[in-house]
Amino acid sequence: MTRSEVLFEQAKQTIPGGVNSPVRAFNGVGGSPLFIEKADGAYIFDADGKKYIDYVGSWGPMILGHNHPKIRQAVLAAVENGLSFGAPTELEVKMAEKVISMVPSMEQVRMVSSGTEATMSAIRLARGFTNRDNILKFEGCYHGHADCLLVKAGSGALTLGQPSSPGIPEDFAKHTLTATYNDLDSVRAIFEQHPDDIACIILEPVAGNMNCIPPVEGFLQGLRAICDEFGALLIIDEVMTGFRVSMSGAQGHYGVTPDLTTLGKVIGGGMPVGAFGGRKEVMQFIAPTGPVYQAGTLSGNPIAMTAGLAQMDALCEPGLYEALAAKTKRVAEGFKAAADKHGIPLSITCVGGMFGFFFTEDTAPMTSFAQVTKCNMEHFRHFYHAMLDEGVYLAPSAYEAGFLSMAHGDEEIDYTLAAVDRVFAAMK
Ligand code: PMP
Repeated sequence: MTRSEVLFEQAKQTIPGGVNSPVRAFNGVGGSPLFIEKADGAYIFDADGKKYIDYVGSWGPMILGHNHPKIRQAVLAAVENGLSFGAPTELEVKMAEKVISMVPSMEQVRMVSSGTEATMSAIRLARGFTNRDNILKFEGCYHGHADCLLVKAGSGALTLGQPSSPGIPEDFAKHTLTATYNDLDSVRAIFEQHPDDIACIILEPVAGNMNCIPPVEGFLQGLRAICDEFGALLIIDEVMTGFRVSMSGAQGHYGVTPDLTTLGKVIGGGMPVGAFGGRKEVMQFIAPTGPVYQAGTLSGNPIAMTAGLAQMDALCEPGLYEALAAKTKRVAEGFKAAADKHGIPLSITCVGGMFGFFFTEDTAPMTSFAQVTKCNMEHFRHFYHAMLDEGVYLAPSAYEAGFLSMAHGDEEIDYTLAAVDRVFAAMK
């Protein structure tokens, strides 16, 4: 047995399923998860001392690569001053100013400690501001595990939401209406049924929790127009895309202005951080200025702010996003070229520093959740484990995007693409 396997068995005794977040358990690919000991640059190292090129990047935030010296040194210096105060700090002001300077639609911002808290709070704010109870989300989009967001569609776009998990009362779930991603007609139909009672639309601007599905042209702008027509707020959940797809997030990349934006792990440089922000008029509705309550003892934690600021400063380096996008495109196109060479049906997507690959015979561009669910999971599982054997660590689920970092150089990308070629050669 490997050390990871031993640790997994041990973990199951004291931690449900042996993990502190379900996707880590490798349920999507089978087998035993790797237990990670350390990470550096483009590499992670497991408990058996094996080294892997990492395309998970702690699920997105490690844009500069793991354990970046500038972030590490900033954090070590900050630790000297204490770990938490539960009182305002100058660091939080700097962080707010930095975020606002990078994302123009955010006029004010409130820090929280996770993406779940960010989306949950943004929804409460949207409901409080509009005095409406219903919200609209898209099937296949994940926004954390707040009760109102852990809801997927029943059959048909007009069906009221069904909870995705026991523990969510139907009375809560019924306020979550679910539409079809990239299908404006499905959104309009729901608004026409509920013209006065939808507080907001929330969506991932590039859907990274159903593999990697970019918005079709005009989709984001169409949602903006529908929100304006019906008096609802548009919430763009940039927990995954913020500072990854571009310096101003996916909203900057696609040129759409939301009322509220949610951000996550990226702004903490990997520390537990999230944030939500937007139009000042809306943000003023939060306590203590306004009536909508929202709070957090560890919100704006000084170590997390320090790590985040150090990363964000480094992200402002000219040319960084162009370089990240070029690396990502090279990987995605390399996967496709190897698949074509060996006759493996594969489709790819990529936006900024995110990419997706789909084992599918479908030659149309990948734009829908329905297409994603038809992909060949057996191929994915086989490919996943073969790549792991080759020393390449991909997200252990066919429903997750892949992420590049600035630490992925030619050496790592060449190695990865050669490994893909070997694996596809053996698969055909
Ligand atoms: N929104 C999106 C788009 C996410 O991808 C995630 C998690 N990956 C969340 C929200 C929830 O963030 P967290 O896991 O930090 O609570």
